[in-house]
Amino acid sequence: MFCKQCGAILVPKKTEYGKWMSCPHGHTQPELNQENKPVITKNREKVEKIEVNDGENILAVYDHKCKKCGYEKAEMREIGAFYGDEDNVVRMKCGKCGHVEQLEGKVS
Ligand SMILES: [Zn+2]
Ligand SMILES: [Zn+2]
Repeated sequence: MFCKQCGAILVPKKTEYGKWMSCPHGHTQPELNQENKPVITKNREKVEKIEVNDGENILAVYDHKCKKCGYEKAEMREIGAFYGDEDNVVRMKCGKCGHVEQLEGKVS
């Protein structure tokens, strides 16, 4: 293997993160970094956790206390103004019990 930038023969380099082929002149090897398997595995685990987590609404990220069950995160659904000079109508759907409250006016 040769350095992508200067063509020098790569030498094994030992670091605290592991051992890989490195240019003696210190050039980075983009392709080698992309093949870093531990990082890819971590990303896959994250995706699987999100898919498995179906007990709570992952879209419920807005601070809104449910009047029905007291849960403090809700999913925001903007419906839009019925007339041009009116503010948008916003509905907050509870992330736990699904109770929907309608809010009128601006929601920052
Ligand atoms: Zn180099
Ligand atoms: Zn609720």
